[in-house]
Amino acid sequence: MSRVLLFIAIFVIVYLLFKYYRKQKIQDSDAEEKAATTAKAKQAEDMVRCAQCSVHLPKGESLVTGAADKMKYFCSEAHRRAYSDQAQ
Ligand SMILES: [Zn+2]
Repeated sequence: MSRVLLFIAIFVIVYLLFKYYRKQKIQDSDAEEKAATTAKAKQAEDMVRCAQCSVHLPKGESLVTGAADKMKYFCSEAHRRAYSDQAQ
């Protein structure tokens, strides 16, 4: 009889450990998700608008022309050229 109790006790401990481990994992993925959201928000802050077609794109993917005080962003080389052709 005591053997059965021992077996049940071990089973319960393993179950609780497994449950704890899973909870821990879920918390980890929550933290990762939060970090991803923060990164996304940061990226959203760095959105710029194409001066030619007004499409929004990440600053890192845009083409930049002009001096620091008159920066213009473009979605593509074609739009950068079209814009400078228009300006002249
Ligand atoms: Zn454009």
